[in-house]
Amino acid sequence: MGTLQSQAVAAKKSTLTPKAIINQKFGSKALYTVEEVEESSQNDCPGLAIQQKRPCLYRCCLQLPELSVVSEPFKRKKDAEQAAAEKAIKKLGIHLEETIPTVEEAWQNLVDRLSYLFSSEFLSSVHPLSGHFRAAMRRSEDLYGCVPISVLVIFDAKLNNLCKIINPNVESNLLLGMSIVATAAARPACSLLLLKDSLSLKRQNLLPPDVLQSLETSDSRLSESIQIQVVRIPSSVDLNLESLALNISSGSYYLDVIAQALETTNASGILISKTIGRASSETRLYFTAPKHCRLDLEQSSNPLGDVTNQHEEPTNVRASYMAGQQVYGDAVLASVGYKWNTGDLFHEDVTLQTYFRLLISKIPNGVYKLSREAILAAELPVAYTTKSSWRGLLPREILCTFCRHYRLAEPVFSVFSKCSENPETSYVTCKKLKEGNLIEEKGRLDPSAVGGQSEEPGGAIQCEVKMFSKHQELILHCLPTKTYKKETDAIQNAALKVISWLDALFKEYETSLQKLSSLAKKLEIQFYSEFFVQEFKVLHLVPNLWISTVSGSGDDNMLENSFTVAGQATGGLPSSGSFVCISYSVCLVTEVGSLKEHVESNEEFEFEIGNGGVLPFIEGVVTQISVGQSASFRVELPPKEFVLAAADDALTTLSILSSGKCSLEYCVTLLRVTEPLEDRMEQALFSPPLSKQRVEYALQHIRESCALSLVDFGCGSGSLLDSLLNYPTSLEKIVGVDISQKALARAAKMLHSKLKANAEMNLPTNRIESAVLYEGSITSYDSRLCGFDIGTCLEVIEHMEEHEASLFGDVVLSSFCPMLLIISTPNYEYNVILQKSTQNQEEDPDEKNQLQSCKFRNDDHKFEWTRAQFRDWAIGLSERHNYNVEFSGVGGVVDVEPGFASQIAVFRRKEDTKKLEMAHHLEVIWEWSKENI
Ligand code: SAH
Ligand code: MG
Repeated sequence: MGTLQSQAVAAKKSTLTPKAIINQKFGSKALYTVEEVEESSQNDCPGLAIQQKRPCLYRCCLQLPELSVVSEPFKRKKDAEQAAAEKAIKKLGIHLEETIPTVEEAWQNLVDRLSYLFSSEFLSSVHPLSGHFRAAMRRSEDLYGCVPISVLVIFDAKLNNLCKIINPNVESNLLLGMSIVATAAARPACSLLLLKDSLSLKRQNLLPPDVLQSLETSDSRLSESIQIQVVRIPSSVDLNLESLALNISSGSYYLDVIAQALETTNASGILISKTIGRASSETRLYFTAPKHCRLDLEQSSNPLGDVTNQHEEPTNVRASYMAGQQVYGDAVLASVGYKWNTGDLFHEDVTLQTYFRLLISKIPNGVYKLSREAILAAELPVAYTTKSSWRGLLPREILCTFCRHYRLAEPVFSVFSKCSENPETSYVTCKKLKEGNLIEEKGRLDPSAVGGQSEEPGGAIQCEVKMFSKHQELILHCLPTKTYKKETDAIQNAALKVISWLDALFKEYETSLQKLSSLAKKLEIQFYSEFFVQEFKVLHLVPNLWISTVSGSGDDNMLENSFTVAGQATGGLPSSGSFVCISYSVCLVTEVGSLKEHVESNEEFEFEIGNGGVLPFIEGVVTQISVGQSASFRVELPPKEFVLAAADDALTTLSILSSGKCSLEYCVTLLRVTEPLEDRMEQALFSPPLSKQRVEYALQHIRESCALSLVDFGCGSGSLLDSLLNYPTSLEKIVGVDISQKALARAAKMLHSKLKANAEMNLPTNRIESAVLYEGSITSYDSRLCGFDIGTCLEVIEHMEEHEASLFGDVVLSSFCPMLLIISTPNYEYNVILQKSTQNQEEDPDEKNQLQSCKFRNDDHKFEWTRAQFRDWAIGLSERHNYNVEFSGVGGVVDVEPGFASQIAVFRRKEDTKKLEMAHHLEVIWEWSKENI
């Protein structure tokens, strides 16, 4: 493990990939051939219940004029090619490290570079910086030929790198870089004139006349003017942001125009930030150098020199937060520059919305919201289940984006696979994942992981994440204990933990470290606060932007605790794990209702119920309406940055926001509901659907038994209780128990309307006298559940840990003592069939592999038993408590492999053994009795 960090450092040193190095040396003379590897080396594991199809592997042969090499097999062609190139480099004895100049050499190189930049040769070259030089030749009088030093430091990567060699602090201190350049420029060899007070440089001698002449004629569109949108961010937070239109043209210097917007006469004193947002963007902040700023030429060579300490210019907190660096005074956010390929001016409009989108993309939740194009509705989900159920950017991508935003090193993911507790057979594979490259350190396939009787049904892959600072110090370490069957699941879940914590950090930067620490502990994260303070010190300066986001959850955010529903109820409310598709629109409204502005809408927005992927109140409403119905409700305002990032018309929205008390008005229509994978399979492959067959099976026993009372353990939304009311039975009393409030709420709603209707019509079909729903765990004893005739427990035990399932069995048979108990649970051996038939529907190759290795039917399942496992459990139980047990099932045929899809055990009490003990652990959630209607 200790090697990982050093590897990350090593990988950082050489910026070129092996292929790029080979390409530099040999160009088209390097021939790569990739071939599929037929045999996988460890295929000698006989006696497997299920043969897993191995992913195909690739090997790459690289032919060079001097030699040829063949790589090891890899899962991806790309990796095989890089590995072959790496092998060739080793054989050729090429040294990867580029020689880094010494400080003295760097000074000399800097002088050379400056002389070149001010030469006539560079003036006619195509480079984003040469545009500045050409524009400088069109500046008038004193400014003729003057180029701001900040421009040189910002737009010339070579110059910048040389400055960093002289003093690494240049990375975070533009003024320091400028002093270094000024110091170099002062050397006679440069023949440059330093306009010290104006922070600019110009040539001492005029350029040759022919060069000047060619400049004049080269551009015919000099007078053409373009209007660009920029945002002005006043230094004082009390002043509003302003959207400005600037007129720039190729005939004038655009930096002078921006300088005027900052109320300085010309661009000489302008400072420029690094790019903001996407890597390819040219969006930057422009601001003026502190008034009394003089570049200290002596300071520049002193490694501790900090030029910024000399003045008391106010910090612009909003701009500093945005740029991640210190910005003084007023600032302008603009996206404009000279093109790489032609040197022409280009621009993108920067509106207020651009500003707010950039702002929210600084937190992981914001990145996620933007990727779902649902800034007001989407939230970072609490769990990653499968790729197909995740919407928006994947957790790992979000984490990488985050690190890039803050100029941190790429996070390092390591995957471990531990397939057996037995040290004899145990092995560990450890893979380091970096930017999609897999470096396998040690590994081999484990036969037991493929077999049906894997000891660890949850899978054995674990993933850790490490985050490093700009200087490669470890700043965060997350090692989740949970193991997964699939590598991607392990990776994404680990990444999700990290981004959830970072999100909290950024939203609550001013709250206590203690709170962050306890959250970190919960998420299995270790962090090094001193480095966080170091990396994100600029955040200290910023007033808390996100105050209202985290406060309140669930219905707290609903203003009036109600919503109005339109449309016909059609039954079938979405339940946990299902996907719902809604359309919604959101308006900003003032309390008095006089002003209303559309903010965001979506024609089709899909999300999974129960994983926190949307604001709690939206989910709350959606789970209570049925397909085709619409609901309107008002909610408390989220942080205004979110509203502004969503709004088309930021100006109007801003004015409404500042006009007084506002709220958001949602209108949501439920378009469709897709059941979770298990239900989909059960419905697609069985007719009638498996769930229906289970209920039918139970009903038959209920009818035959002439029972008067029934408890449904783990009743869920009440599918069994519902069916009971459709048929005449002898039952007079029915009870449901579940731990899910949401499921119980649905069951109550259904039972209420059905019982009411039945009673009103006075149907002779059922004799139900009372119905009760209890909330609580079925593993705890409650005397009110004693003495019932029948107990049912359909597809519930696999949702508990195995020891809890056993506890439940013991409690029911020893204390509740029903005459008859029916328990159903999936038959693990049947999964091969289910999964084979759904395979074609899955497009993701990863997903296919997962199915082949036999995953559970539902992500919430803690185990799925084979027939033998279920038998053992049930027989043990029946013997301990004096019951008989019979086995049966639904879906499939008796004694035909691999048995029933759902296996069922029916327990019958041998004799009347009843001991009553008084205790109430369960809470009545809803009760109905024939007398009180
Ligand atoms: N029996 C229902 C629901 C099956 S889904 C049907 O056949 O449709 C499994 C249900 O078990 C869920 O509603 C879940 O909330 C419930 N459950 C899981 N663990 C439980 C426990 N310890 N106590 C009570 N209910 C539990
Ligand atoms: Mg289940």
